[in-house]
Amino acid sequence: MALLQISEPGRVRAPHQRRCAVGIDLGTTHSLIATIRNGVPEVLPDMDDTQLLPSVVRYSPEGQARVGYAAQADALFDPKNTIVSVKRLMGRSKADLDPNDAHLAPYDLVDQSGLVHIRTVAGLKNPVAVSAEILSALRARAQRILNETPVGAVITVPAYFDDAQRQATKDAARLAGLHVLRLLNEPTAAALAYGLEQCAQGRYVIYDLGGGTFDVSILNLTRGVFEVLATGGDAALGGDDIDRLLFQYVMAETDIAVHAPGDIRRLFDAVRRAKETLSEENEAHIDIALSNGVRCVARLREAELAERVQPLIARTLDLTRRALRDAQISVQEVQGVVLVGGTTRMRAVRRAVETFFKQAPLAGIDPDQVVALGAAIQADRLAGNLRGEQDDWLLLDVIPLSLGVETMGGLVEKIIPRNATIPVARAQEFTTFKDGQTALAIHVVQGERERVADCRSLARFELRGIPKMTAGAARIRVTYQVDADGLLSVSAREMRSDVEASICVKPSYGLSDDEIARMLEDSMRSAHADQNERATRELQIEAERLIDATETALACDADVLTAVERDEINTALAAARAARAGADTERNALDAAVQSLKAATDAFAARRMDKHIRAALAGRSVDDLTQSQG
Ligand code: ADP
Ligand code: MG
Repeated sequence: MALLQISEPGRVRAPHQRRCAVGIDLGTTHSLIATIRNGVPEVLPDMDDTQLLPSVVRYSPEGQARVGYAAQADALFDPKNTIVSVKRLMGRSKADLDPNDAHLAPYDLVDQSGLVHIRTVAGLKNPVAVSAEILSALRARAQRILNETPVGAVITVPAYFDDAQRQATKDAARLAGLHVLRLLNEPTAAALAYGLEQCAQGRYVIYDLGGGTFDVSILNLTRGVFEVLATGGDAALGGDDIDRLLFQYVMAETDIAVHAPGDIRRLFDAVRRAKETLSEENEAHIDIALSNGVRCVARLREAELAERVQPLIARTLDLTRRALRDAQISVQEVQGVVLVGGTTRMRAVRRAVETFFKQAPLAGIDPDQVVALGAAIQADRLAGNLRGEQDDWLLLDVIPLSLGVETMGGLVEKIIPRNATIPVARAQEFTTFKDGQTALAIHVVQGERERVADCRSLARFELRGIPKMTAGAARIRVTYQVDADGLLSVSAREMRSDVEASICVKPSYGLSDDEIARMLEDSMRSAHADQNERATRELQIEAERLIDATETALACDADVLTAVERDEINTALAAARAARAGADTERNALDAAVQSLKAATDAFAARRMDKHIRAALAGRSVDDLTQSQG
């Protein structure tokens, strides 16, 4: 496996030449921007001194976009035009979305060129444009505080983000006028914020419980190189669920039904505040006046909250256990646990994580900020502000699903296996199937299954202009390269003639996490069936090749055969054709027919070769031959 160097050429700059770069955590619920100032990473605040920017965008009929708290306040009154959790839509088509996703309920979603769009009063908006509004707001914040435009940005993405989602994130940044130095996995960013790369080596767990999602990642560190061993989580599990739980609880306790959108919003805000208070205090109070004049008063205790959220926390630990199993490591082998995401402030969560891992988690850095701070550190290094040779490290991530190429018979040849660390380049050689074949279609697929039909199609392209050669003589090297951002490019080259074709894979839609999970499960369940199917397909291809070759040979060289031999071959040929046309389940019959046809044509093949050699040598003396060889 060839690893590509990804850190920029390490030039040390004089202090006055310091180039300002930013790190951005583009979150589902909140986004942040951070930079290094006076050697210290820090989050940049808004004018009113808030650091978190709610990832919410509201469009007005004039086409203006409001971002952040101002937009969030409108969500309940103008849900159709107020876009929350846009991260869930990045790089997705409508079919990719989970119809049960409650976040999608208010939106009018439309597919356009394979990508989901949201119909708003300001027209159709695609998720890339919505995310770009959030990124623009953050960029403006940085420009105001730093008095200069950042030379570049590192933007974080979940480790499981696929090609389409990463590409969409990069596109959003470009749209927002940011130069992307690199996309960085969120868990890796958190590890960097804690300076874990300074440690000799070890395995770390990043436990990220945010507003709407839970992500767990297992990182392996060796000699300053991070590798994501496994990822897991649930895209619909987070602080929002706790808010809903508390909301129901308060309604039940007070026996008050809340219906008006304004009241719902106020009560949700109140329970969220109470929940956040309970991370510090043992008791919190809710006291709001509803629009009908009724007062809603309730008291919440930490112990009560802890009990109510227990099932939710248990679920995160189940998913953690599964990720550890995927990474093939035990709890005892975990060197450290990093807490990320606002919900990990809850004492119940910290206690549960500590009990599970039998060690206190790392929580010294604000879990809301840790990803953005790590991204800022990485951005600073990529911008060329290196602080010595020690900083010249690589970061490795993994690809979530195998990347392969379609071969004859609709089968998949895996070129880069799932969980391979990136950046990575791998090549495989293929050849032509037919005599005189001058073009080769290359179909790039993603997935674990053996058949193309069961995998996801990413791209197709053609290698043309291959010189005419006999079947099997061409040597076509297909190279897959996944860069540090997790983006794939594919090239193909015919080695004898140097004809080359390449493509940068930019799929217009991506895979949902559920789909990834399902495809993985499918592949495990059907590994056996797939193997059978592969064997059948290979046999069918062999049969076709043999039938083809026999027909061609009969057409030009039947004269070397006796009438009896010809009959025998024709009979075997007819039997093979019939078996080939038969059902896939009749593998034994096809196998037998192929063997008989081979046996019947053995002598024929030898005699044909004799005939052709004799023809080639006709008129040449033995002397000629020895001379031309010498
Ligand atoms: P995301 O990564 O999905 O954007 P965040 O990491 O910003 O999410 O987490 C947001 C969630 O964290 C919200 O549900 C919020 O209520 C919760 N949260 C923030 N602060 C606290 C706190 N002190 N105690 C408990 N939950 C908190
Ligand atoms: Mg987050």
